[in-house]
Amino acid sequence: MAEPGFLRSKLLGEIGITAIFSERHGGISPAPFDSLNLGHGMGDSSKNVEINMARLVEAAGLGARPHQAEQVHGVEHVICSGTGLLHSEQADILISNEPAIPIAVRTADCLPILMADPVNRVVAAVHAGWRGSAAGVVITAVEQMLKMGAREEHIRASLGPCIGPCCFKVDDNTAELLKKSTTGAEEAVVYTPEPHPDLTAINRLQLKETGVKEDHIETFDICTCCHPERFYSYRRDHGTTGRHLAVVALPEAP
Ligand SMILES: [Zn+2]
Repeated sequence: MAEPGFLRSKLLGEIGITAIFSERHGGISPAPFDSLNLGHGMGDSSKNVEINMARLVEAAGLGARPHQAEQVHGVEHVICSGTGLLHSEQADILISNEPAIPIAVRTADCLPILMADPVNRVVAAVHAGWRGSAAGVVITAVEQMLKMGAREEHIRASLGPCIGPCCFKVDDNTAELLKKSTTGAEEAVVYTPEPHPDLTAINRLQLKETGVKEDHIETFDICTCCHPERFYSYRRDHGTTGRHLAVVALPEAP
């Protein structure tokens, strides 16, 4: 069987932070969840999801199963410590300052954002769909990292694969909310003539607003909807599809 597929963040990897975005191949789930589905309760069996998780943990060298929360497209956070858990808390931001404790968010089109301050040793995983982006979830995540001792000038952010403006058509109301979410965001909605927001560009602008440096932001800019062989897409697959996992962890204490 093929190895589980994932992309590794160069920006976080070069400072010793484990940060990966899973792709869909190299798992055991049958269609339409084929094959590395990492989301429970989507119609795939829990056993498949657990086997896929174990395979990803092994292949990516995560060391342990990541903490996850119940995602609700909001701006709440949960601070994770100890052994990996599927938290019952509703949170779209997971934060940890403990070594070798992976934390993760699940996506299928939404934007996963992994962040780290390697100096003050704080990491965050953020789930940013259009609702979260309109509410400035990544701005809240940076604020929470600062409360844990992080500093803006040290924070690095990796913005993973998500649905691109090529495929992401929204209604006017949604477009207006996103355009108002941060300075310059009007430029990040393309009209063809329906509005097509660029979630990556909007979150990059929000990060800039928090004081994160331009050269501390990495983007993948791969559209999940345009690449069925590599990515699940909620929109393309009409809601019946698997979930990717974006995982970040601090290294063992120096
Ligand atoms: Zn596309």
